[in-house]
Amino acid sequence: MMIRRSALAALVALTIGGAAACTDSGQADEGFGPGAAGIGDPYFPTYGNGGYDVKDYALVLRYDPGSDRLEGTATITATATQNLSRFNLDFRGPEVSAVTVDGAAAAEQKREADELVVTPAAGLRKDSTFTTVVTYGGVPQPITSPELGTGGWLATPTGAIALGQPESASSWYPVNDHPRDKATFALEMTVPNGTSALSNGAPGEKTEKDGWTTWRWRESAPMASYLSTVVIGDFRVTTGSHQGKPIVTAVDNTLAKDSNADKAMARTGEVADFLATQFGPYPFDAYGGVVVVDNRIRYALETQSRPVYSDSFFSSSTSEWVVAHELAHQWFGDSVSIGAWRDIWLNEGFATYAEWLWAEHDEGVPVRTSFDRAYETIRWEDPTFDPGTSGLFGNSVYIRGGLTVHALREEVGDDSFFRILKEWTAQKRNANATTEEFIALAERISGKPLREFLMAWLTSKTPPPKPGD
Ligand SMILES: [Zn+2]
Repeated sequence: MMIRRSALAALVALTIGGAAACTDSGQADEGFGPGAAGIGDPYFPTYGNGGYDVKDYALVLRYDPGSDRLEGTATITATATQNLSRFNLDFRGPEVSAVTVDGAAAAEQKREADELVVTPAAGLRKDSTFTTVVTYGGVPQPITSPELGTGGWLATPTGAIALGQPESASSWYPVNDHPRDKATFALEMTVPNGTSALSNGAPGEKTEKDGWTTWRWRESAPMASYLSTVVIGDFRVTTGSHQGKPIVTAVDNTLAKDSNADKAMARTGEVADFLATQFGPYPFDAYGGVVVVDNRIRYALETQSRPVYSDSFFSSSTSEWVVAHELAHQWFGDSVSIGAWRDIWLNEGFATYAEWLWAEHDEGVPVRTSFDRAYETIRWEDPTFDPGTSGLFGNSVYIRGGLTVHALREEVGDDSFFRILKEWTAQKRNANATTEEFIALAERISGKPLREFLMAWLTSKTPPPKPGD
């Protein structure tokens, strides 16, 4: 879940001309050309890039909270999807001092708007795997706009938090910044002794040298870049094992011990296990959560295997609904990722529905009661599917998305419904998905024509009749 944001489109400007000619005539003869400056999402034309597919990011970084300086290297392993004379990475981070491709210094590297444009010494053949190493250092800046709020890299009094949707990664490492290009991720973050550095996936060995500690993390399942995070600061870190996998939770040390936040984090495994009974096996090899205290972060985000929560959710003792929401995203959004931002309801509708399932399981509030209450709150003019950039985090995506999921359940019955959910999470595991594909699967499993029914729930400007009415 994210705070409501609007008019993201205002931020988007095409930064690279389309007619860039190849400078090497030999390469041009063989059909080498530059990769596109955007991956092709109509909402965000410059997000992501064309011409390659990233397999893995390996970041080796050091952060000094005293000077706010971040420095190190990003090693990006990718496969060319065309003969490439040059390619872009999305990067708003600090100064780049060197770029190599397959060990050779790049012929040229330049910053253009929010992109790092790399011309390798030799063209990259289609289907070849290549390794880019970017060395950089300086003080990272947040991504700010009146519409987006503030996201990306945020320095804090004791460290930093890198977080945000639909983009944040490009503020601290060079990246193909769109969920369509998922990749594995490893982080080595060196920070002063006594400071914690939390990130995605399973923890690795922690080592100490000369007053600095290196924390290691590896996310071994492909991850959309906006789901990567690092949280550096003064935290109570709890490490354990759950279902044979590591579980790491952390709570900002300025919160009292045994706070509601600690209690909610302690239920992470239990909530994940309940959701697994509804959605199928938990998709990742680690569990966790991080609670931060920062006025600029008044939301929670489903960062892969380890969501980050604002402490503002934990002011009451019944706050596990937000844990259910973010953990549901581990299936819906993280493992099964959208291929375009117009399909965001495939994430948020199911995460909202998980809140209702949890409320029934934990507090005895029937799902139908949550549905009936929510139905009264909807502004039906706003579509759930293809909501536009201004509606990306609006109620229609979240609440009407949840209504759509429950309407489907009543239409096809519990048996078909839960088979649809479990088959969806199994078939699309570690992949990308579209609304169209979801409708097709629901029709196949239920044996019912559902397109008109679902599209009415997703886009009709008048309220569809409630099931049973
Ligand atoms: Zn959400």
